[in-house]
Amino acid sequence: MSMPDFPDLPTPIAALKPYVPGLPLETLARRLAVAPEHIAKLASNENPLGPSPRALRAMAEAAIDVSRYPDTDCAGLTADLARWHDVPEDWVVVAAGSESLLGHVVTATLGPGRKAVYPRYAFQAFVNAVQKVGASGVVVDEPDLVVDIDAMIQALAEQPHLVYVANPGNPTGTWLEPDALARWLAAVPPHVVVVLDEAYVEFLPPDARGDAMAWVRRYPNLVVTRTFSKAYGLAGLRVGYAITQTPLADVLRRVRSPFTVTTLAQVAAQAALDDAEFLARTLHNNAESGARLRTGLAQLGYRVLPSATNFVLAQVGDGAAWARAMEQQALIVRPVGNYGLPAWVRISIGTPAETERLLAAATRLATAASVTQ
Ligand SMILES: *Cc1c(COP(=O)(O)O)cnc(C)c1O
Repeated sequence: MSMPDFPDLPTPIAALKPYVPGLPLETLARRLAVAPEHIAKLASNENPLGPSPRALRAMAEAAIDVSRYPDTDCAGLTADLARWHDVPEDWVVVAAGSESLLGHVVTATLGPGRKAVYPRYAFQAFVNAVQKVGASGVVVDEPDLVVDIDAMIQALAEQPHLVYVANPGNPTGTWLEPDALARWLAAVPPHVVVVLDEAYVEFLPPDARGDAMAWVRRYPNLVVTRTFSKAYGLAGLRVGYAITQTPLADVLRRVRSPFTVTTLAQVAAQAALDDAEFLARTLHNNAESGARLRTGLAQLGYRVLPSATNFVLAQVGDGAAWARAMEQQALIVRPVGNYGLPAWVRISIGTPAETERLLAAATRLATAASVTQ
């Protein structure tokens, strides 16, 4: 007698592909038999300066309380964020990373038979969340690796329940002008939920930044998500938040599991929000090292996309092979074949020293390639 397949999964779950993260630093260190500090990880858009020193101090002080459950409402952090954005406290929903909030919005709005509209190169974790609930994705092409807002507006004819744009985008790094976003928001019918994912908003030049809070005040169907993982350097703690008016915020609070944002994450995020000096240092390094990285890669003949984030997307030929060759030199970058971009790699902007190392390794690789041709 043959065994039935086990586990017997619903179709959307059986079809799920795992999220592909950057190669962990320790994994490569073990593989190359070197100490982890010899590895430069430029694969997950983490802050190369580490966490804010104030956040570290706040965690050390709060560690004494970890025998207690965390405050499930994240009251202190929520109040700080409400003040920071000048919105009512009940418009702020904190969760364990903005990735989990994207999942909560999907859970709240989609299900089998419902549709989400998103761009071709949308953040993979969002796309996975849509698949997980058995909803279908309407994928809008990005011919120039920039979100095509007119095509996004046309796709509203598909009658989605949810539409998603990350600005700036990941893995492209490209961004939209505020006018384009405003046009899109105005075109979305009021019963369709809009997610504007602002994971990299801190890296946008001020003149390219739309007033997302003005949009939240105007559109009750808009959810803006933000994170402490990128500019604020707290990726390992998992803390992000959504801002949306009360009706949707209440739904997200019900969908969110209790106690998922740890006590340490809450106090660290509060301290990081307060550390303007650290954020300024982060943005300064990102601008300087980013310019150096772009110039260096362009000098090697690679096409580099414009980026308003803490990473660049470069066309290197065979992205997977290039990333493997970098690993041999103790550098981790991100191939993006899973996004349908096999010729490209995504490289996070590191410290000046990491940037020079990356460029030296890329130069060796380019030289070796021209010798063997
Ligand atoms: C990194 C990232 C996130 C998720 O960040 P969290 O660490 O889950 O807060 C969300 N959206 C985009 C586009 C990202 O690149």
